[in-house]
Amino acid sequence: MGKVLIIGAGGVGTVVAHKVAQNQDVFNEIMIASRTKAKCDAIVKAIGNPAIQTAQVDADSVDELVALFNSFRPDIVINVALPYQDLTIMEACLKAGVNYLDTANYEPKDEAHFEYSWQWAYKQRFEEAGLTAILGCGFDPGVSGVYTAYAAKHHFDEMHQLDIVDCNAGNHHKAFATNFNPEINIREITQKGLYYKDGEWLETEPLEIHQPITYPNIGPRESYLMHHEELESLVKNYPTIKLARFWMTFGQQYLTYLDVIQNIGMSRIDELEYQAPLADGSGKQVKVKIVPLQFLKAVLPNPQDLGENYDGETSIGCRIKGIKDGKERTYYVYNNCSHQAAYKETGMQGVSYTTGVPAMIGAMMFLKGIWKRPGVWNVEEFDPDPFMEQLNKQGLPWHEVFDGDLEL
Ligand code: NDP
Repeated sequence: MGKVLIIGAGGVGTVVAHKVAQNQDVFNEIMIASRTKAKCDAIVKAIGNPAIQTAQVDADSVDELVALFNSFRPDIVINVALPYQDLTIMEACLKAGVNYLDTANYEPKDEAHFEYSWQWAYKQRFEEAGLTAILGCGFDPGVSGVYTAYAAKHHFDEMHQLDIVDCNAGNHHKAFATNFNPEINIREITQKGLYYKDGEWLETEPLEIHQPITYPNIGPRESYLMHHEELESLVKNYPTIKLARFWMTFGQQYLTYLDVIQNIGMSRIDELEYQAPLADGSGKQVKVKIVPLQFLKAVLPNPQDLGENYDGETSIGCRIKGIKDGKERTYYVYNNCSHQAAYKETGMQGVSYTTGVPAMIGAMMFLKGIWKRPGVWNVEEFDPDPFMEQLNKQGLPWHEVFDGDLEL
């Protein structure tokens, strides 16, 4: 049905490649391109399908991207590189006439700040080019938006309260590690919190608000209110929502390490001068610039290597309050994903898996013509039903609880 180009060969890229390769009735030609081609080749070897092509590309360079797009001529690009590359890849898509999908919104490298405005600004250009851009199609953002759209379509006349709850109850048996790119992850968690109440955005200190929330098959876990990008589009697309929040669990040990990392300055994202020995072994020293958080990433465990010893599961869902047929209703829709099951299938842990599977499904929705509409869209703006059906088929089955206690 279509040609797909995956950009990024990290944890999420590996899962996307496996899932795309499992659905060859939809994706009949596949290429994986990333900064380091050897990583793309290793993924192809692990999948065992030599027909999958690989390429080296610097996704910060629009010219390199356009050259690659013009030679491979994909129908859609799945961007699972880093949020820094979103705008260059979107630019290149416009130049080469390629459709676009990502899992995280744009962030400038020099400022730990994310919002959709930079990508929404491309709406008219994508419309005029007749191209579709699907934003935020991982789990959260991604499935969280599809769950909300499904709730609005089938279970509510009006939604009033939305709480997205994200629990990782897994154990990777490392003292400290992040589940996806450490640089992006630590930037996100150390930001101020933000939530939406009665038409206003309210800011909190980082991880200031927290409470235990009980997750299915897991039990109570301390959950922390954070800013998360999908809240921005969901309150815009569902204006009856009065309260919208995002909660994520963290273990005490993780938080203690994070505190130390911040207090000793290792989460800084500005450049520092550092006296380093030359690589030629001469013993001479040279002044170089380093960004502490990028240096920290180099010494932390690679999230892609966590899968083998990861046990436990993730549980992510939406807890919604509102009105149906004149009566108050609560609704909770969620998925639990086992790290070991994800590892057995793709070689990656559950966090990469829960992100990569929806990215593949989004591209499938586009190639089947179901989510194909010129412009720039968040996932909740498309029909959720065929996507929800695929979640059940592709490894992320969901469950519903009606009129239970939402705890929030
Ligand atoms: P990784 O760091 O494991 O992988 C990123 C990949 O992108 C690497 O292969 C890296 O190359 C490549 N890359 C980085 N910069 C460039 C560049 N300039 N040109 C080409 N390739 C580049 O990250 P993850 O796989 O953990 O995460 C991927 C994305 O998924 C991130 O944007 C993250 O925010 C998002 N995400 C979304 C979630 C959701 O639920 N929506 C949840 C988790 C993650 P190299 O190997 O050479 O470093």
